Amino acid sequence: MAIPLFDTATPLAPLQAELRVAIERVLASGRYILGPEVREFETEFAQYVGADHAIGVANGTDALTIALRAMGVGPGDEVVVPSFTFYATAEAVAPTGARPVFCDIDPATFCVTPETVKPALSPRTKAVIAVHLFGNVAPVAAIEALGVPVLEDAAQAAGSLGPDGRPGALGAAATFSFYPSKNLGAFGDGGAITTNDAGIADRARMLRFHGSRDKQTFEELGYNSRLDELQAAILRVQLRHLDAWADGRREAARRYAASGIGELVTLPTASEGSRPAWHLYVVRSDRADQLGAALRERGVEARAYYRRPLHRQPALAVDIELPATDEAARTSLALPIGPTLRAAQVDEVAAAIRATLVP
Ligand SMILES: *Cc1c(COP(=O)(O)O)cnc(C)c1O
Repeated sequence: MAIPLFDTATPLAPLQAELRVAIERVLASGRYILGPEVREFETEFAQYVGADHAIGVANGTDALTIALRAMGVGPGDEVVVPSFTFYATAEAVAPTGARPVFCDIDPATFCVTPETVKPALSPRTKAVIAVHLFGNVAPVAAIEALGVPVLEDAAQAAGSLGPDGRPGALGAAATFSFYPSKNLGAFGDGGAITTNDAGIADRARMLRFHGSRDKQTFEELGYNSRLDELQAAILRVQLRHLDAWADGRREAARRYAASGIGELVTLPTASEGSRPAWHLYVVRSDRADQLGAALRERGVEARAYYRRPLHRQPALAVDIELPATDEAARTSLALPIGPTLRAAQVDEVAAAIRATLVP
């Protein structure tokens, strides 16, 4: 039996009846945009992450752009972003008029730290985007102690827990993606911004609706970027299961560690005091490409993410030395993980790794 990189169907199988009820409730309501489901989801999601405000938007990329603008980022500013992340993290900076400035990552956690951010700071730095990459939790408070506000890119970290609380409530603001394969996934696109700052929340709410509070007066050039009622209703059902799903991901990670493959590849390291809800379980090997091909040959879907880091992408290329980023880009390989990945499947992946790497 083939083992997929992630299985989005199995965790949802027991929720089919509940999901249908939620979907039919929206169909019957006739409200499809910014109605009661979005309001309720915003309340429930803010409560879940431990933030005062949540604002539903169309996707995680818009969430980043809108959150940056709500934080006051604009033309002439610089935003420090890691180069080892999904492209959208840096792409989302451009529409604000600011310039992304790349920084390196900690080689053990794949996340930015005060040490990696510091060399990228300048008098023009208006914000740092700390990506909780693969579900690991970046040290947000320690970065803010450098004197610069942090926007958390928590697209991969729903369900994770850091030493100071959940991603979403650790910095000036945070963004989430509800793309179907994320830890909390809609049946289409969706995203959210969370914050404890009433001013940022108010401005983000205005920006998601064309820069208007009342649909009559347009104060700024904004966006048409809203979470649908249908997606909000679906997410409300799933949110109640997010913690159990995160436990399932952590259990699979524990099983990988217990399987002994740590002698053959470098296992991911949880950042200090954190309990990541591993969105991706990314190991490292000098033979990552060979290992990935051999695993796929054996029916194990392993995949390299971010083989070409952002500072080497044609659209964003800059001449800068980021050694830990280049190393992670060269050696990383994501193994199958998910809330319902069974122990026998983990053992099968481990056996396939062993068969490939042990002579
Ligand atoms: C998925 C993702 C995004 C973008 O989210 P979309 O909903 O696809 O726009 C941004 N940052 C990171 C780190 C992501 O993984």
